[in-house]
Parts: sequence; C-alpha cells; structure tokens
Amino acid sequence: MKIESSGLSRRAIRLVKESLLWDNHGCMPLRGNDTSFLPELKQYREAGVDVVSLNVGFDSLSWDNTLLVLANYRHWIKQHAEDYLLVDTIADIDRARQSGRLGIVFDIEGACALNKQLSMIEQYYDLGVRWMLMAYNRNNEAGGGCQDNDQGLTDYGKDVLDEMIRVGMVICCSHTGLSTVMQIMEHVNQPIIFSHSNAAAVWQHKRNIHDDVVRVCAETGGVIGINGIGIFLGNNEASVENVVRHIDHVVQLAGPEHVGIGLDYVFDQQEVEDFVKDNPQIFPPEDGYADGIAMLAPEALPLIVQSLLNRGYKDEDVKKIMGGNHFRVARQVWK
Ligand SMILES: [Zn+2]
Repeated sequence: MKIESSGLSRRAIRLVKESLLWDNHGCMPLRGNDTSFLPELKQYREAGVDVVSLNVGFDSLSWDNTLLVLANYRHWIKQHAEDYLLVDTIADIDRARQSGRLGIVFDIEGACALNKQLSMIEQYYDLGVRWMLMAYNRNNEAGGGCQDNDQGLTDYGKDVLDEMIRVGMVICCSHTGLSTVMQIMEHVNQPIIFSHSNAAAVWQHKRNIHDDVVRVCAETGGVIGINGIGIFLGNNEASVENVVRHIDHVVQLAGPEHVGIGLDYVFDQQEVEDFVKDNPQIFPPEDGYADGIAMLAPEALPLIVQSLLNRGYKDEDVKKIMGGNHFRVARQVWK
C-alpha cells in the first residue's frame, strides 16, 4: 500500500513524511544464510519507516546462531545499499532519511547470546546491536523472566548492565520478570526501555506491564514501545484501534514523551508457529500461545498516525510517539 493511496488525510500523509518513523522491533527468520524474506524489508520503506530494529536472536537460540544471523543480514543490507543503510551512529539516521533509505539496527532478546562472556557486548555493539534485554520469559544467568519464578537480577546480570552502559547499548526490560526489572531500574541511572511491551491495565497478560512499572520506566526517561501482537493487545485482535488503546493508556499515564512503537511483526509466520510448538515452556498454551497469533504488519503504521490524529493528538506528540522518543533515547545512550 502506497501512503498516497492509503485513504489517509493530507495532514496524516504530511506527518508520516515529515516524522522520523522508528519501529524498534521486527523479526526476520533467525536462520543464517536465509535471505529469502529480506526483500520484504520493503514493507517498512513503503510504510514510511526510517529506522527499524531487526531481532537477531533470543534466549532459545545459541550465541553462534546470533552471530550467523547478524553476518547474513549485514551482508545482504550492504549488497542493497541503494535502499538500506546499516546504522552505526546518530548521524547515520540523518543520512538514511536524507537519502530515502531504511536505516537498520539490531536487537537481542536475552543475555544468553553472550555465552557468559561480557566482551561479547562490545562485539555485538560493533555489529550494530543497539538494544538487548536481560531474560526472555524464563530465568537465565543474568536475571528472571516474566513467565518464570523470577530469581531477580544476579551479580553477573549487574556486570552485563554495567558493560552495556559502557559501550552504549540500550537496556530493554521486555520479557523480563518484575523483580529483575525493578532491580535493573535501581542499578541503572539512564533511560531504560521496554522495546515491545503493552499495558496490563488494558489487557492482562504476563508479557504486559503494570501502571507502576510504566511510571518507573518513564522516570528513567525511557520509552515503552507498544507492539502489534494480538494476544498482548487483547482478544488476539491485531488492529490499529487496539494498538492505539494501549498507546493512549501509556500517554495518559506517563505523557507522550514515553511511548513508542515496537510492532514485533514476524515475517515468517511458519517460523513463529514452529518456535511456539517446539518450546511450550517458553510459550505456554495456557498463556494464549498457539497457532494463529494475530500480528499487525508495518503497513499499519501510517494508519496509527491517522488514528492518533483522529483522537485529537497534536502533530508534535504524534512525532514523538512514532519515533522521536526512540531517537531521544538513542542520542542519550549510544556511544
Ligand atoms: Zn519479544
């Protein structure tokens, strides 16, 4: 869908074009050597997105798989430099926008990708990884997961945080257990993000975060990225309206400076179904994980802009929500 023929108001089209649009979490197949889905990155470009963070691994996959995926993505992106740009610095984001390309950074869901070696953090940063979360649903050696009996932040987890701060990697608390999250907030004195977490007050789920956590995150100067996953939005309904309900709740609670987008769109639906089926301890059926999880695709992003305008949001607040806030955190944290 081209933005001009999308039925959006002229104001929304102008805003999509003027704004820095940043989706802080998207998922391509986590298989080294597989480039079959990467041309679909054009979906972000067609939606007016300027920066996307592509996931390169999570706790169920080995560290070496994460490196293989990074090598694969980076190689492909460099081969398609007319449309895509590997983002290393803040200035690269301007370069991407000015040349009409999609800027790409990477993210890792869980500290297992470090293989217990702290120097891997700098290695990943050098390869473009700009945020990492501590623990993916289950406990690991760094901290507790949000669907486990959270053991809290470990001493090793504190070392991981200190090294992330040193190299400039943003600390994310999505998928992480509540005790661990609160201990991270205590330990760290810089903006913390939830890259892709929705509001528990709007829809109750272990992956969603309660209002007090939203407030604490906002106090750090951080951002809560709302995702487009149906079982976290509510009723497995991945609609623009449902996403905007969550955005609006966090705005009412914490202000428009602390909300962003982390759609978490998975391009290979078969891969997500296989992960869910093969890992019931990480994706328990009783928590709604099953075949047919609904997801909102990137083409919905301009519609979110329109929906916020329809609700009476000011242009400047829409700009913050659609990417300005992610940019602010990057400017503060990246080295
Ligand atoms: Zn996730």
